[in-house]
Amino acid sequence: MAKITLSNLRHSYMPNPKGPEDYALKEIDLDWTDGGAYALLGPSGCGKSTLLNIISGLLTPSEGRILFDDRDVTDLPPDKRNIAQVFQFPVIYDTMTVRENLAFPLRNRGLDEAKITERVAEIASMLEVEEMLDTRAAHLSSDNKQKISMGRGLVRDEVNVVMFDEPLTVIDPHLKWKLRSKLKELHQRVRATMIYVTHDQTEALTFADQVVVMQDGEVVQIGSPVDLFERPQHTFVGHFIGSPGMNVLPVSENAGVVTLEGHPVTLEGAISGQGGKIELGIRPEFVSLGDSGIAARIRKVSDVGRHSVVEAMVGDIPVKAVVEGAVPEQGEAVHLVLRPDQTRLYRDGWIATEART
Ligand code: ADP
Ligand code: MG
Repeated sequence: MAKITLSNLRHSYMPNPKGPEDYALKEIDLDWTDGGAYALLGPSGCGKSTLLNIISGLLTPSEGRILFDDRDVTDLPPDKRNIAQVFQFPVIYDTMTVRENLAFPLRNRGLDEAKITERVAEIASMLEVEEMLDTRAAHLSSDNKQKISMGRGLVRDEVNVVMFDEPLTVIDPHLKWKLRSKLKELHQRVRATMIYVTHDQTEALTFADQVVVMQDGEVVQIGSPVDLFERPQHTFVGHFIGSPGMNVLPVSENAGVVTLEGHPVTLEGAISGQGGKIELGIRPEFVSLGDSGIAARIRKVSDVGRHSVVEAMVGDIPVKAVVEGAVPEQGEAVHLVLRPDQTRLYRDGWIATEART
């Protein structure tokens, strides 16, 4: 297990990159603490796999360094980095049994047979695959193949980091949530540094203590699931995380007063910076219906189980609110109340209000 440092990392797949748009990774500076459970979360194409492959050594970055425990490994090949990587699709040997598959990474490292037997038994029990140990891998369902692939990633206990690249893609939905919580449990048991890559917020937020959110080759925020939910540093994070995501509303500012369609709004704190495009961000959970407030008209009501999501129009601007209990009818006139300590200003996407202390 090791601390991993990425320093001034940039990567382009082009031989002669020019502008920032030619870079799959624009500028990455990150520290992954020893033993942490991390998720790398972002939409498809934002550079997650590129970053993982740079950490594992499958790719050499165009610029920047990778350090394991402060030792520079940038020029080391994958097999010298002591890493386990689990991919989107199962990587196992069909002709071998499950037991042989799990033992393979250990045999490769020259561990003695007694130790191998012990580790394989441990992992098989953690993953609940004991009864298939003597089955040939070719006979497994794709779910089980992927489970064994994960087992191969977890079987060595002396690796610097275990990395998972969208490992639940091929897993059946009903098994997904089970494996998701299983992985979390495994991390707590094994305490290895783990990096879990996904475009699925639920997977990221269940697994990780710290989530790194990426967009377009850049890190936009690093934080606990609570940080990301409570104080998105960028409208992208607000929108990408949560369901529904944060309301991002066009507003104007004049002499420190921010208005939404002419209605003044109270922000969480003082405004910072100036110029640029300003928007107001508030999560639907913090918009409520009251007797007074911003006049709006209900456009849509969706029942999402424990609560309802209503969409109300403030002039031409749709605003979502999460409502518990009785809900208004479509077309009804209502008043929206924005919780001030959860109402933030964003400037060119980035947060531009100071948190109240
Ligand atoms: P993610 O894993 O987040 O979906 P990737 O790291 O795979 O994203 O891709 C990031 C960007 O780099 C995308 O624009 C993708 O098209 C590009 N890319 C990925 N792999 C290659 C490659 N081998 N050659 C050229 N471009 C690539
Ligand atoms: Mg990928």
